[in-house]
Amino acid sequence: MSSSSSAILAIDQGTTSSRAILFSQSGTLLKQVNQEFEQLFPQDGWVEHRPHDILSSVLAVSREMIDYAAAEGLTIEGIGITNQRETTIIWDRETGEAIYNAIVWQDRRTASLCEALQEEGHLAFVTERSGLLLDPYFSATKAAWILDHVDGARARAEAGELCFGTVDSFLIWHLTKGQKHVTDATNASRTNLYNIAEHKWDEGLCELFRVPQSLLPEVKDCAADFGQTDPSFFGSSYPICGVAGDQQAATIGQACFAEGAIKSTYGTGCFMLANTGANRLHSQNKLLSTIAYQIDGQATYGLEGSIFISGAIIQWLRDGLHLLANATESEAMATSLAGNEGVYMVPALTGLGAPHWAPHARGAIYGITRDTGPAHFARAALESVAYQTHDLIAAMAGDGIDCKGLKVDGGMVANNWLMQFMADILDQPIARPVIAETTALGVAMLTMLQLGHVSSLSDLEEIWQLDADFAPAMPDEERSHLIAGWQQAVTRTLR
Ligand code: ADP
Repeated sequence: MSSSSSAILAIDQGTTSSRAILFSQSGTLLKQVNQEFEQLFPQDGWVEHRPHDILSSVLAVSREMIDYAAAEGLTIEGIGITNQRETTIIWDRETGEAIYNAIVWQDRRTASLCEALQEEGHLAFVTERSGLLLDPYFSATKAAWILDHVDGARARAEAGELCFGTVDSFLIWHLTKGQKHVTDATNASRTNLYNIAEHKWDEGLCELFRVPQSLLPEVKDCAADFGQTDPSFFGSSYPICGVAGDQQAATIGQACFAEGAIKSTYGTGCFMLANTGANRLHSQNKLLSTIAYQIDGQATYGLEGSIFISGAIIQWLRDGLHLLANATESEAMATSLAGNEGVYMVPALTGLGAPHWAPHARGAIYGITRDTGPAHFARAALESVAYQTHDLIAAMAGDGIDCKGLKVDGGMVANNWLMQFMADILDQPIARPVIAETTALGVAMLTMLQLGHVSSLSDLEEIWQLDADFAPAMPDEERSHLIAGWQQAVTRTLR
């Protein structure tokens, strides 16, 4: 039995920082700490992290939380890990030393390889098996790139001397001092190498992408025995009990356990994931099929749409154009106008993601006049996040998902004006939870499940608490008019 002073440590290894968050056994967030690390941009379109920075930042934040727990008389029962997905590391099976930096999910260096595979007609094969598209976003072409560009790497891979892993796998290998080379089904489902219907690494995909199977980790459920941390790291040894990629972890943390439940996360970009239950959908609208979570060998599938730029457009207004001093100001600026006055912004700063997948599109602003000022820019930027969400919901509807409200999280959802506008444009209720750290909460929940505190994820539903909800209140005619204006702007941008 767990005592009332027990706690769970969630490690959230993100793209720009590593966090450690301590939860009580009833899911209350007790304390969190964050450490940023360096982003490397060696060439145009390349993004790397030093594997050592990933590991050392995780160790530092974890130690701080473990010390805090000790000082407060809390016993850590288990560890959950969530991570930036798709980011690829290859390391030496003996020493743990990475043979190249981590190639980050945003990295576009394998774009021409993906285009070549597409031209050779492999897309349908890849999508059928992996649920994904042919895009540098996913891990397989990144792994092949490392094997092809590091001296001797391919021969060493063939000889079984190397390990491939996403960040979860790399961290667990190190935390267990090489005892466990494992990952979970959600992370595996983002590699382009995993067959999401047959639940195994796919021989045909490994051949196509030229990634030897001997490199790959064992794939486990999200709540499982992922090994014990070596005592040399934290004094004691702790079991690693729950693992999920960040967006899937957020889906769990948002308690999206019912088929059709949808969560949308608004940080730098926006990631929407709908629970499609035991059904793997075949999207007709360029959405991704993925594993939302896997418990007791049973996969629950998800349909995912990603928008590359959401909060980042506000960052650009702040740091690029200096139109606002901080992101919070955007709310007052938007509210200062009665309407958008015909000004639309298409934030295709790095191309457009789902459902357009137009990597070469670039941003645009339409409808400016001599009256246009900074407030119009701020309002148009915020509105664009709602319109893009509308496009994703429409794509999901086209694939048979009947949206009945959206659960939101991420830094942007603090903006009440945006939340109300989004409810109006979607014509759907929007719910914002008390715990904004849904990603960490999701793996804390998986850890509780593995520790036996509950017998199913749905028993944890009540941990989810409403902070605020937003009901649609806009007349239909106004909504249609606004959406038509946005669609016209997108059409012009894609031309
Ligand atoms: P990430 O995890 O991707 O770094 P966060 O979830 O921390 O992102 O959210 C930060 C993003 O949210 C930033 O891009 C910032 O511009 C945006 N943001 C934060 N607060 C607001 C706000 N009140 N209004 C609009 N955007 C905001």
